[in-house]
Amino acid sequence: MSDDVTPPAPLGAEMPTGVRFVGREGPVAANWIGSDHPVDADLDACVACGLCLPHCPTYRLTGDETASPRGRIAAMRAVADGLAEVDDTFSSFMDRCLVCRACEDVCPSHVPFGRMMEAARTEIEPHRAPGARLLRWLGLDVVLPHPAVLRATALVQPLARMLLPRRLRALVPRTAAPLRWLPAERLVPAGTEARGTVAVLAGCVQDRWFHDVNLATVRVLARCGWRVIVPRAQRCCGALHAHNGRMDTARRLARRNASAFAGADHVVVNAAGCGAHMSGYGELAEGTSLPVRDVMAFLFEEGLGSDVRLAGDEETTVAYHDACHALRAQGIEDQPRSLLRAVPGVSVVDIAGGDRCCGAAGLYNVTEAGLSSELRRAKADAIGETGARIVASANPGCTMQLRAGLDELNASVRVVHPIEILDAAIARADAHSAPSVRP
Ligand code: SF4
Ligand code: SF4
Repeated sequence: MSDDVTPPAPLGAEMPTGVRFVGREGPVAANWIGSDHPVDADLDACVACGLCLPHCPTYRLTGDETASPRGRIAAMRAVADGLAEVDDTFSSFMDRCLVCRACEDVCPSHVPFGRMMEAARTEIEPHRAPGARLLRWLGLDVVLPHPAVLRATALVQPLARMLLPRRLRALVPRTAAPLRWLPAERLVPAGTEARGTVAVLAGCVQDRWFHDVNLATVRVLARCGWRVIVPRAQRCCGALHAHNGRMDTARRLARRNASAFAGADHVVVNAAGCGAHMSGYGELAEGTSLPVRDVMAFLFEEGLGSDVRLAGDEETTVAYHDACHALRAQGIEDQPRSLLRAVPGVSVVDIAGGDRCCGAAGLYNVTEAGLSSELRRAKADAIGETGARIVASANPGCTMQLRAGLDELNASVRVVHPIEILDAAIARADAHSAPSVRP
């Protein structure tokens, strides 16, 4: 081959000066301050096409580019290029994001927006006002990771709830379960051979405020032939920590749970946000990958078991609410609907605009109350239009948000976890069979 072959011109060389597609023209000094910042390869994956904008709830509400995925990525890029600082303006752009990941779904470049936003928020954390940092430290580092502190918090909740501003009070459930424990182990019904061992994530908020959902989860799994364990050493999954810039705590919790759940055939999770986060443990901290399965997807994919029957009660319409972290992050859509439709008398309807975030988004309904309440109202209206008296929601944050939204409308609609509908259907069928095979 001849030595004088002219190398191809760089991509975009024929374009006016300053135009670039991806990547930089030379080395720059980024203005990130920590090591968990968004990485250049992720930032450069965005080609600024704007296809994600109409799908972003915060852009739809505000019409503001800085509240869009493309605008947020541009802001991150400006910091990475040394053109802007991580300051209050940058923080406000990032804080208004729901991390619903609707943008990821439609992005032709597969930009991993959720990962980038978590990293950007880690950068923001040291810049927050001391009062905000203290509150976040108390909630995220002192209460949630420590079951005893969480139980104590749940114990004083009835009193503390009354002292909260009306807006927050509407979100917090009236009752909690400070002194209830899940069984450490539940065996399959006598005479049945176990299909394997599943470990159940109890969760932090889930186990104190939705303990009955956990009990239903354990009952259904055992009835369907799985030996169920609830490891005592487990802790909060760390999703709220990762979404709110406390990556070190999130990693500590991932390591703790990786050790607590080691050896289980499957780690079954009934809270969408927790399941989505735990599915990504391996990416968060080396050696922490777990075989995480969402409970409804797991039961659908593995089958309920040949001797498990479902019995209906009365004709019931259930509106199914898709949590963003089930639909987007885990691709769960048909599995829970199919299981619910298998219950005689149950018809499942979709909620108009059901793929749009309800505005709960972890702490978003506390930190960004205005946008959150607009999304909550839209979701409650859409549920009301279905005419359903029951909504199935598989994420505790969404459940609290939907209940508050439906209460605002004075709508008598119950919000339940889909596993509770399944549990009741199995219980009815077992009660009708003689002799009962229910454990
Ligand atoms: S995660 Fe949701 S709110 Fe945030 S930029 Fe993407 S679509 Fe918008
Ligand atoms: S769709 Fe993807 S590539 Fe296009 S602007 Fe949005 S994030 Fe960037």
